[in-house]
Amino acid sequence: MKDTLSVAVEPRLKVLLPLPLAGAYDYRVPRTLSLKIGDFVVVPLNQRDILGVVWDSPTEGESKPVPDHRLRAITAVLPAPPMTESLRRFVDWVAAYTLSPPGAVLRMAMSVPAALEAPTPQAGWVLAGPGGNRQPRITPERQRVLDAMRPGEVQAGGQLAAAARVSLGVLRGMADNGLIRPALLPHPRRFARPDPDHPGPVLGDAQAAAAAALVERVAARAFGVTLLTGVTGSGKTEVYLDAVAECLRQGRQALVLLPEIALSAQWLDRFRARFGVAPALWHSEIGSRTRRDTWRAVAQGEAPVVVGARSALFLPFPDLGLVVVDEEHETAFKQEDGVVYHARDMAVVRARLAKAACVLVSATPSLETLNNAETGRYQALHLPQRHGGATLPAVEMVDLRQAPPERGRFLSPPLIAAVSETIGRGEQAMLFLNRRGYAPLTLCRHCGHRMRCPNCTAWLVEHRAQRRLQCHHCGHAEAPPAECPECGTANSLTAVGPGVERVLEEAIALWPEARRVVMASDTLPGPAAAAAAAQAIQDRAVDLIIGTQIVAKGWHFPHLTLVGVVDADLGLAGGDLRAAERTVQLLHQVAGRAGRAEAPGRVLLQSFSPEHPVMRALVSGDLDAFMREEAAMRRPGHWPPFGRLAALIVSSEDEREAERTARDLGLAAPGGEGVQVLGPAPAPLALLRGRHRRRLLLKTRRDIAVQPVLREWLARVEVPNSVRVQVDVDPVGFL
Ligand code: ADP
Ligand code: ZN
Repeated sequence: MKDTLSVAVEPRLKVLLPLPLAGAYDYRVPRTLSLKIGDFVVVPLNQRDILGVVWDSPTEGESKPVPDHRLRAITAVLPAPPMTESLRRFVDWVAAYTLSPPGAVLRMAMSVPAALEAPTPQAGWVLAGPGGNRQPRITPERQRVLDAMRPGEVQAGGQLAAAARVSLGVLRGMADNGLIRPALLPHPRRFARPDPDHPGPVLGDAQAAAAAALVERVAARAFGVTLLTGVTGSGKTEVYLDAVAECLRQGRQALVLLPEIALSAQWLDRFRARFGVAPALWHSEIGSRTRRDTWRAVAQGEAPVVVGARSALFLPFPDLGLVVVDEEHETAFKQEDGVVYHARDMAVVRARLAKAACVLVSATPSLETLNNAETGRYQALHLPQRHGGATLPAVEMVDLRQAPPERGRFLSPPLIAAVSETIGRGEQAMLFLNRRGYAPLTLCRHCGHRMRCPNCTAWLVEHRAQRRLQCHHCGHAEAPPAECPECGTANSLTAVGPGVERVLEEAIALWPEARRVVMASDTLPGPAAAAAAAQAIQDRAVDLIIGTQIVAKGWHFPHLTLVGVVDADLGLAGGDLRAAERTVQLLHQVAGRAGRAEAPGRVLLQSFSPEHPVMRALVSGDLDAFMREEAAMRRPGHWPPFGRLAALIVSSEDEREAERTARDLGLAAPGGEGVQVLGPAPAPLALLRGRHRRRLLLKTRRDIAVQPVLREWLARVEVPNSVRVQVDVDPVGFL
């Protein structure tokens, strides 16, 4: 008793490390360091030094604290702004919601370790000023340098030499002679302040009313979610840019999430037109230096507006006032590997923790979001008409049973006629097929053998231009064999079904004179190529656009008046929970590219089932009615959003191990009122990258949280090291 009382307790802190460990670890605080919660620190772990964050949440499952003598000390604190309370709470929240280790989530918030170090100051030159009694010779070159400098202003050597049209050697010579001296360049301000009062377009009445409502939400400096809907081309972007302007006036930072930031050149042009400067960008294709500078600028409040992909949610905004999620229905917002999370849903959480306004934007909102608006959790704003008097395109079906294409072709006579007319009038046409490559299947005409991926349950897709058969899941590629690998017959392999390359081949034969562009992820590698293609279309240097889902993304092509959907039934196969909803959203978005300016647009959907509710909804344009029917179908079975789902994906290189673990999970499955487990069953992708996969699906009533159910369930089953069990809360894909 006496003993324990006399023990001096050394100060200790919890440090969370960006590693998939259980929770934060205790460390001793040396007297030489003064630390606060949120500080980035260096700590020893095993034989390594590692970066972490001083955390304040209780360590999960901690039974007794580590005794003092086993405690190791924090080594150093880094010269970076501490991680804010709201970001730390966000990391904890995402970890708890997705059942991920907090350290795995923290890693996303510390993705740029280099940004935590003080930036190395760059040296430049400054006028030496009077002093010394040397009289160096002033050559014309040296005079040009002196003319290019102002007293006290430090300039980078390269810049100065270029301005004075001299070599760097001239500068060094001037320094030797005491005319100029080296000095540190001031820390550059990377991002100019967007001007909220820069003159923007004059909003129409409906736009102005919606913008005013959003501005009010932002000015309230409190959390709230608003759904902004409106037909394609109604001008939603201009409306939410007004909310961004208000956020700037409030002196807070704004974040805009776009589903495919690399395809957003037109969006950036509009931002520049509205605010006079470009925003900060955040996505996987910015270089490491920009990444470091941007991260730091955000942390220091010097990046007023960030436009980014989902990972931008984890940037260290000190005062976030607005989060916009554009095209909120897009499945690209779901991250499927590592920490599995939905950026749209996490954006709402990020906004709540930061006391910021959140705006979800879409012409075709998800049923989840519509339901939240209906039940009053979200405010709803709607723009009923296209901007500038443009009308919505007329959508017609082409029944492929009545108007089939020629044998071995994929474009029907009515669609061919419509394209010919359109480009004959000097307008642009688009053919949409959501499939890359030449053909999705290669088959032996002699024995029926199908070319499949050795690592995945998938056919190999032919990419004829590159003379390759390729797996779209694992990247496996091989040259097309000259003879069938099964029966050995020569020249027996034949392409089955179309991809965009094959549609292009058909288009070349039909319209040899037309100027064409193919927009697919493999034909437009990177943002610059996509921007160039979009520019060519805008400049009318293209007559015919052939593309995959890339063409559905928010583009504004004023001269495009015809959209032909080559296979409208494509997304309905497989039939997962949201197949119909997603097909309606995608095709409506594609259709929405047509007729956005004066000339009216027309859309032709080729289908074998024109009577399907999805096709009827697209023709009538009454998506509200379609979504009401979807809701009515999902409600009784407690399917989302009227119930909750979580998937367990069991995988192993050893099929029996995967099978056994899946069976054990099935035997230990939770049950009871409002809780149901489906499976285990082989995943549709039963083999992926060489791993055998089984799936289980937990379905609960909406008032039951899945996380505690999952935690208890997983704790009951022992999982061998060779087996991985991935948890996917609110699954979007079911492969
Ligand atoms: P949505 O996002 O709703 O599909 P956009 O925001 O892309 O629609 O707007 C469609 C087109 O109309 C864009 O080219 C946009 O610049 C233009 N536009 C929208 N609102 C205005 C306005 N008030 N004044 C001028 N042009 C506008
Ligand atoms: Zn594969």
